[in-house]
Amino acid sequence: MEEILVLAEHRRGKLRDITFEMLNFASAFASQNGVQLTVLLLGQDISEMADRLENSCDNLLLLDSPELGSYSPGPYLQALEKTIQERSPFLTLIGHTAIGMDLAPPLAARLTIPLMSDCLDAMLDNGHLEVQRQIYGGKINANLRLKPFDQYLVTLRPGCFSASVSHDRSAEKVAIKPPDWSYFRRRFLEYVEAELADVDITAADILVSVGRGIGKPENISLIEEFADAIGATLSCSRPVADKEWLPKSRQVGTSGKTVRPRVYIALGISGAFQHQAGMKNAETIIAVNKDGRAPIFNVAHYGIVGDLFQVIPVLKEKFAK
Ligand SMILES: Cc1cc2nc3c(=O)[nH]c(=O)nc-3n(C[C@H](O)[C@H](O)[C@H](O)COP(=O)(O)OP(=O)(O)OC[C@H]3O[C@@H](n4cnc5c(N)ncnc54)[C@H](O)[C@@H]3O)c2cc1C
Repeated sequence: MEEILVLAEHRRGKLRDITFEMLNFASAFASQNGVQLTVLLLGQDISEMADRLENSCDNLLLLDSPELGSYSPGPYLQALEKTIQERSPFLTLIGHTAIGMDLAPPLAARLTIPLMSDCLDAMLDNGHLEVQRQIYGGKINANLRLKPFDQYLVTLRPGCFSASVSHDRSAEKVAIKPPDWSYFRRRFLEYVEAELADVDITAADILVSVGRGIGKPENISLIEEFADAIGATLSCSRPVADKEWLPKSRQVGTSGKTVRPRVYIALGISGAFQHQAGMKNAETIIAVNKDGRAPIFNVAHYGIVGDLFQVIPVLKEKFAK
């Protein structure tokens, strides 16, 4: 075991947080296990991004090519496959993002190496790789030990590690040779910016977030009034957006927005991992749920087990004073 390889992820010329989160994990893993930390940066005009990465890894592999200008599975797959075949890293890390979910399964199949997807953590125990994943809709974290293999592929869930990395390494930048580009079944055509939202929930200081526990759309006005009374912005879980009770732009979670407000108040939200991934880094989390075993209480700093229709009027009155 000599190397851990991280695929840097970026969009429109900017490295994404998941890159630094993976580096944070990989740096500790590399130090604990005495292995090199290598980053693979694929793209076009990548020198600025390379400069940001050079002090966070031991080797920086760069492939700058028009074929990699925007993410497209064919060229990415080919470049990664070639790099892994040539370097045989013990562990290859990809973000569990839209890109990673697209890329990792065909990559593992082509290389016939085991893939563990959507991991919260990974560790070595007596030479065996163990990963942590959530099961039963996020109610339990399970540590799974993998059968011995020379190489593993792991996708890491966003938001599990801090994105602030130490810059205590020094990488040699190595320009790698492109493969003979051949898989071009899909081509990138254009980047379409999402529609402008009515409010930007990611910029809110206080969020009051409503879930399916609200019961019916007519009840949302109660939460709206509460949010207004405390100067908060209204956000929601996915079912509320899916039912069009609130606009999609208000949805928090993996298929919505990631928020980091000072205060996040979750009302009638169970706290499925897809929701938690979007809010668990809020400074203070307050949850109201009538089910004391709801997973939201695992991340909440303060919790009220109770009926939100009884709790909210009381809170509103207290705040209004
Ligand atoms: C690919 C994928 C992506 C997803 N992306 C997202 C995402 O971005 N964001 C997201 O939120 N979800 C997402 N989901 C859905 C997610 O798995 C959950 O289904 C969803 O978060 C549940 O929403 P909820 O907590 O509002 O509803 P539920 O899970 O139904 O929970 C409702 C909660 O309300 C409580 N409750 C009911 N009545 C009351 C009351 N009167 N007072 C107090 N509490 C009450 C219940 O005890 C329960 O815990 C995604 C799922 C998939 C498969």
